[in-house]
Amino acid sequence: MTSLLSDEQKQDFVKRGFSRRTFGRLGALLGASAALPFYNESALAQLSSIGRIPDDAVKINANENPLGPCPEAAEAIHNVVRKGGRYLYEETFDFAKTLAEQSGVKPTYVDPYAGSSDPLHYAVLAFCSPSKPLVAGDPGYEAGARAAKFINAPVIQVPLTKTYAHDVKAMATAHATPGLIYICNPNNPTGTITPRADIEWIVANKPEGTVILLDEAYIHLSTEPFATDLVARDKDVIILRTFSKLYGMAGLRAGAAIGRPDLIAKLKSFRGGALPVTGMVGAHASLKVKTLVAERRKIIGDIREDTLSWLAKNNYEFVPSVSNKFMLNVHRPGQEVVKAMAAKNVYIGRVWPSWPTHVRVTVGTRDEMEKFKKALSEVMA
Ligand code: PLP
Repeated sequence: MTSLLSDEQKQDFVKRGFSRRTFGRLGALLGASAALPFYNESALAQLSSIGRIPDDAVKINANENPLGPCPEAAEAIHNVVRKGGRYLYEETFDFAKTLAEQSGVKPTYVDPYAGSSDPLHYAVLAFCSPSKPLVAGDPGYEAGARAAKFINAPVIQVPLTKTYAHDVKAMATAHATPGLIYICNPNNPTGTITPRADIEWIVANKPEGTVILLDEAYIHLSTEPFATDLVARDKDVIILRTFSKLYGMAGLRAGAAIGRPDLIAKLKSFRGGALPVTGMVGAHASLKVKTLVAERRKIIGDIREDTLSWLAKNNYEFVPSVSNKFMLNVHRPGQEVVKAMAAKNVYIGRVWPSWPTHVRVTVGTRDEMEKFKKALSEVMA
């Protein structure tokens, strides 16, 4: 079995306590250019649904954005297609430069990717090991834990607080030497905030050598401050950003890791070559539309608030969210309701083992949410 891991990477894996079998498996996967067998949101969503989702279904299961890319992004993508015979690396550099400027960090602190799943997985491979667990909130986004399990790194799940924030005090003391502490803000699946003061606290009080992986996939949907100033101050923090959510580019693929160059260099060592130029120009064009974030936050926020007030009026129990999804307590095994809704052509999200009677619902269009309300009333009657 040939391995594409460099000698330096192999030595690093051995030093971190990996078995030769584990890094051989990883090297072979990378060598075959195979997708790492982890999961992103759409794959996880698909797993929880029943087979192929019909084209005419209400698809509120994967935290996608039905608005799609903004017109400026669509035009930039359209214009670049004919040039797609070239790698066009400069488009990736230009995107990184603009994201760096807007984030108040140097361009060397921004590492573009085709979405944020790759840097999330690579961070786990780079910083976790059998003796360096991943510490994550529960319920939380599962992709990091799946990557950790693949390399036999322990996963410590820390329940969210009563206000559905990450329990930073418990996370900081969960283990003496975590590789990563993963905080998703706002959280997936709950759509709830971990206050800025708590994030600052854990950055200051985490075990030495641990990296805080701050996933800001949904930050644009809330009015919370970005945490990029922590990166600018050279803290042990890597921020993940994606264009799959507010920017509506899940299928087009663009994202970035933002961190101190020595930290993001460790992620880079896992990645392949050129990025899809369509994703890069679409993301760059989106960043230049100054009004986009506020406009879309309002559109999605208004539909979310309308749905939540309908739920409250009809005596449903849910977790208040500031994001494009929310957790609904159906007071029966959640999977039953997922199936019953799918039978009505409304595909809602999955169920987390620690919250078995909750289902996650993504905020779709007004029309989709009307269909959701009707189907839910029938299923719960
Ligand atoms: N992080 C979180 C919290 C997510 O919910 C998702 C997907 O839904 C991702 C990362 C990865 O998304 P993508 O690879 O499309 O950027």
